[in-house]
Amino acid sequence: MNVASVIVDVPAMQTDRTYDYSIPDEWKGSIVPGMRVVVPFGPRKIQGFVIELKEKGEVSKLKSIVEPMDLIPVLNKELLALGSWLTEKTLCFKISAFQAMLPAAMKAKYEKFLRLEEGRNPGELHLSLQRFFQDGKEVSWNAIEESGMLTLVHKEVKNGSVEVIYRVKAKGNKKTVRKLYLNVPIDQVDEVKDGLPPQASKQKQIIEYMLDAAPGGDGILASALTEVMATTSSTIKSLVHKGILVEKNVEVYRDPFENKTFEKTFPLSLTSQQEEAIRPILSTIDQEEHHTFLLYGVTGSGKTEIYLQSIQRVLEEGKEAIVLVPEISLTPQMVHRFKGRFGDDVAVLHSGLSVGEKYDEWRKIQRKEVKVVVGARSAVFAPFENIGIIIIDEEHETSYKQEENPRYHARDVAIYRGEFHQCPVILGSATPSLESFARSSKGVYGLLTLDKRMNDGPLPSVDIVDMREELRKGNRSMFSTNLFEKLQGRLEKGEQTVLFLNRRGHSSFIMCRDCGFVLQCPNCDISLTYHRFSNGMKCHYCGYEEGVPSTCPECTSEHIRYFGTGTQKVEEELTKLLPDARIIRMDVDTTSRKGSHEKLLTAFGEGKADILLGTQMIAKGLDFPNITLVGVLSADTMLHLPDFRAAEKTFQLLTQVSGRAGRHTLPGEVVIQTYTPEHYSIELASNHDYNRFYQQEMMMRKMGSYPPFYYITLITLSHEDLMKVVDISEKMTAFIRSKLSDTTIILGPVASPIPRIKNRYRYQCLIKYKREPNLGSTLKTVLDQFQQQYASQGLTISIDVNPYMMM
Ligand code: ADP
Ligand code: ZN
Ligand code: ZN
Repeated sequence: MNVASVIVDVPAMQTDRTYDYSIPDEWKGSIVPGMRVVVPFGPRKIQGFVIELKEKGEVSKLKSIVEPMDLIPVLNKELLALGSWLTEKTLCFKISAFQAMLPAAMKAKYEKFLRLEEGRNPGELHLSLQRFFQDGKEVSWNAIEESGMLTLVHKEVKNGSVEVIYRVKAKGNKKTVRKLYLNVPIDQVDEVKDGLPPQASKQKQIIEYMLDAAPGGDGILASALTEVMATTSSTIKSLVHKGILVEKNVEVYRDPFENKTFEKTFPLSLTSQQEEAIRPILSTIDQEEHHTFLLYGVTGSGKTEIYLQSIQRVLEEGKEAIVLVPEISLTPQMVHRFKGRFGDDVAVLHSGLSVGEKYDEWRKIQRKEVKVVVGARSAVFAPFENIGIIIIDEEHETSYKQEENPRYHARDVAIYRGEFHQCPVILGSATPSLESFARSSKGVYGLLTLDKRMNDGPLPSVDIVDMREELRKGNRSMFSTNLFEKLQGRLEKGEQTVLFLNRRGHSSFIMCRDCGFVLQCPNCDISLTYHRFSNGMKCHYCGYEEGVPSTCPECTSEHIRYFGTGTQKVEEELTKLLPDARIIRMDVDTTSRKGSHEKLLTAFGEGKADILLGTQMIAKGLDFPNITLVGVLSADTMLHLPDFRAAEKTFQLLTQVSGRAGRHTLPGEVVIQTYTPEHYSIELASNHDYNRFYQQEMMMRKMGSYPPFYYITLITLSHEDLMKVVDISEKMTAFIRSKLSDTTIILGPVASPIPRIKNRYRYQCLIKYKREPNLGSTLKTVLDQFQQQYASQGLTISIDVNPYMMM
């Protein structure tokens, strides 16, 4: 094979295709599909992925590959195919799909240099540039940039005096250490020692030590040797010089769990409910079939033990396992459970790791040094080749959807890979997404249920407090009397409280504090969003608009206002009301430093505080015996987000948070404060009634033509010029309308909920459809034609198939 088809690292419409390059003779046979290569592209040298090999190129004169960047392919056949599938499903560039599957460390970095064109001399350049180019050397781009002379250089490049060179940097960055090895056969050691001059006693000691400490020819860290022997590097150098010791640079993995030991755990004997749930999984594993299961089990019902024992079966068959958990619950506790069972066979991938650490974990997978990977969303691309099970814990979490290109959902990728490897995919949750539960009701997924908690304990009792009542009684504080009294009680008994503040959707809607009325769109059954920019209320699904009311349209109260409070404010008030309480606050501000999340949780677990106050991030994974009270300060904030999943998210969150109380022997209590106690998502969460919630929410989705009854695709356009974006959006929507069937609903174009970001105006169009065979090709045409035509004028189009973020 003489020619390689390459996808180049230029994420743009025009370059989203393969380019043919000839393979230089010395690389023939060693360059294969899935490898990264350096190729010339225009004036530059850039990275690309080899997709296939062929005998002949499409054009006769081909440029040739400069060099391979890998010795073994980084993408195997399956992942190459998966890349094409992702491209098609999410309408992303091929290069973005491939890069999404690899650790960030492997993304190409380019260094830019400048140098004089041949035959030119520095004297011809602008006076202030001459010193840089004096001796004909390459000048780094940064040096010019820092001295503020880029525009001058730009002119020189234009008139042909200076050229820009790109060089691909970083081929991954392995960490190495310096090690020393004894280079003398054991039976000759004495001889060698005798041959040393008498005053070289230190050298002799070192030889003896090496013989002792590393008898099997294992090396010793150079740094350790100098320290242990209290010697200098020159003494060691002289031994190396004489050929008695050899020095090597050895690759080591950066181990994020280096200093932790994991106590070995063993399979528990399963309860009869667990037995029943695991049986179909095991038989699917044994029969090497693909099937997707929804493991629906209340919190604490023993789902994780089912994961562990299923994985064990997979390992016994000589296969590998992928476990996905939401970023936020990749807590030490979670990692512990997998490492405790499978020890060093486990790699962990999450965003808390440095780029280098992630790269090392990925390499362990690629080299088949581990069998299990536990990680966040992108771990679904783990380069295993013999996968026996894929597990997605907390499958309802929206963080499984990537919100940038490629906009993939890990669940879809998992099912793709499950089919390829003919293995089961397990989706676990106490509050399954509506989509997944609907699929299991229709028999598309197998439904496995665990409805008993392991400790047979009752679910905590939940009080709903109507904050409108509180106001009427004259309580203007953010704590209801009920919650406050319970809080005081815990302090007296020395038990712990978790206070949860839902901050998402901060002050974006308007609510009446007297009657709980929230302004709704008359056409869409979705709350209107307050727009500071235009000082009006807007529906961003259909575009309906009205002014901000000064009195409540329902009860004429004047207490109608924006909603939202920050954690900091809550902490201040708590300190005022309960000066003796020890409080730990967890939010983006207090957890931004690496490891701080873990530190705060550990401190709380050790009883160093009475109250843990936080946002979303404390809703999961917390499992401490002394927590007996959970308070939700305002259950409504998320409920009124302009998102058709608002009720579902509220239900899930409240259920999650309530699950934090009374997980062990002490009984738990939950207090939910709300201005809309009658909303079904709040009422049913307080009864722990998923089934009724599902029924009710399905009805709402059916009425609103939302998933799982309809598929949706969201197109967002942005441009600096408002008139322009409106104009193009209208043309685009009209074009789409003309191509799709009559049963498809097309909403918009209307301004996006966040109508301007970074001075760019945003417009959107929402497509709802049941069956739309033309959608893929229509959207591709939109990208091709509209993007092509208007890109140079600064327009961007983003298409989100099955969006989870409606903003
Ligand atoms: P989930 O993942 O559904 O929240 P867990 O797997 O964390 O539930 O189980 C809750 C608790 O019950 C854990 O402490 C776990 O070790 C324990 N557990 C699970 N299965 C069994 C079993 N078969 N026998 C005894 N304890 C179990
Ligand atoms: Zn009112
Ligand atoms: Zn509307």
